[in-house]
Amino acid sequence: MASTTEQPTSQAIPPIKVRYCEVCTFPLEYCEFGSSFTKCKESLLEEDQDLYDKFYSEEALAKKIGTLSVEDQTKLEKDTAAKEVKAEKKADAALKKKLASQVTIKRIERNKRKFVTSVHGLEAFDVDLKKAAKQFAQKFATGASVTKNPQGQDEIVIQGDVSADVVEMIEDGVGVLKNVPKDNIVEVEEKKKKGGD
Ligand SMILES: [Zn+2]
Repeated sequence: MASTTEQPTSQAIPPIKVRYCEVCTFPLEYCEFGSSFTKCKESLLEEDQDLYDKFYSEEALAKKIGTLSVEDQTKLEKDTAAKEVKAEKKADAALKKKLASQVTIKRIERNKRKFVTSVHGLEAFDVDLKKAAKQFAQKFATGASVTKNPQGQDEIVIQGDVSADVVEMIEDGVGVLKNVPKDNIVEVEEKKKKGGD
């Protein structure tokens, strides 16, 4: 039945003119759900600037975001908040771990009046051990290298008794040592076992 929908009331309904997309063939409102959205937009822009603006101008998009996605936005905010909490917890844990970490500087007597100084624990403070060793070597004009201690952990061994100077360097936050808190420094002296030379 081809009835003309005459409205008895005074409220006139303007004719709905559905425009179909030349690219994806959907009504323009549905282009974004198709798989050729970019092409759809390009095509429409060439075809009909006004219509394009109606759908895709910044104003139109802002309006759409403002009305459509209250729910989505809430969800997004929740998700973001959860992510942030997670990151915060992780940072807290990392901080605790750092505070619990100690940098041990040990003076070790190797032979009569011959010492080496070991520095252990810097990696907990994101110090590149190789760079630190290089820095110590340059500062003291001596040998310094990264070696494994008997426990299999990396540490820096510097030739000579420079423990006091190392402590000072850490306290002063020199170079790569800048993020090592001085409260975490422990100085130890390892005496040569009796019966040696
Ligand atoms: Zn389309």
